[in-house]
Amino acid sequence: MVIVDAHCDSLTRAVNNKKSLISNSYHWDINRALKYDGFVQVLAVFQDPDSVKPTFNNAMRYIQEARKVENQSPFFKICKAYNDINEGLKNKKVCGILSLEGGDALEGKIENLDALYNAGVRLITLTWNYANQLGDGAETQYNGGLTSFGIKTVNLMQEKGMIVDISHADVKTFEDCISMSTKPVIASHSNARYICDHPRNLYDWQITGIRKTGGVVGINFYTEFINNSPKADISALIRHIEHICGLAGEDTVGIGADFDGMDALPEHIKGVEDLYLLFNELAKLNYSDRAIQKIAGGNFLRVFRDVLTE
Ligand SMILES: [Zn+2]
Repeated sequence: MVIVDAHCDSLTRAVNNKKSLISNSYHWDINRALKYDGFVQVLAVFQDPDSVKPTFNNAMRYIQEARKVENQSPFFKICKAYNDINEGLKNKKVCGILSLEGGDALEGKIENLDALYNAGVRLITLTWNYANQLGDGAETQYNGGLTSFGIKTVNLMQEKGMIVDISHADVKTFEDCISMSTKPVIASHSNARYICDHPRNLYDWQITGIRKTGGVVGINFYTEFINNSPKADISALIRHIEHICGLAGEDTVGIGADFDGMDALPEHIKGVEDLYLLFNELAKLNYSDRAIQKIAGGNFLRVFRDVLTE
């Protein structure tokens, strides 16, 4: 079974702390992901606006570090197109997809989008929690939705074959983005607000909006987004999966664990090595093998097939 995790901050965390992405004591590394039959990991380039001003140059520096890892490890491949992913999986490699978390690093210049695309970035989370040049975030709003630069960016991304990610966006930015999109839009790492009322989670109408584009919601493992507390168990996580499946069908749910982007995981899950526990639990609840395959990775693979054309 192929697993796709649509969001982790492990690249950023490893680079910031001068640790290896191949093997470390954090939530995610290549060696542990290799234990599965197939693994595709979206690796976010994240610059925390609470501690640094995100810049384009710094984003490029993280990408160079990811390239170094690719050169060091025969078991890791950075993928741009869906075909690269298929080939990487066939050759038993962990497939990485580079993403940018927070469009701030574009610095308001569309040519920086071209440069990031050329460097291999295939997914952009338009905002982090704060408003930026593209639109508004879950915690601060001053643009009133997508800005003209945001619209330009979404258009060009979809034209080029990049995935638009609306996790972290506020509701108006979300709405603007969904209504103009011509390709599947994802929420890479957000949960259901009906189950846990948190500004980082999605209302039911947002989940069905994502489904209408052919997109997927990646379930976030951060306990605060599972049940607004520092503790959660796997059953609490599954409540979000149940809700989204009930509302939008089993084709709309995936995994976006947010490994290394937070510090409180559900009980028994220490990192990527324990992801299988979730799938075992779903099997115990009589989810079909087919449904589990889709949730584990099949749904996000479908989005990659639809969007990542070259
Ligand atoms: Zn995030």
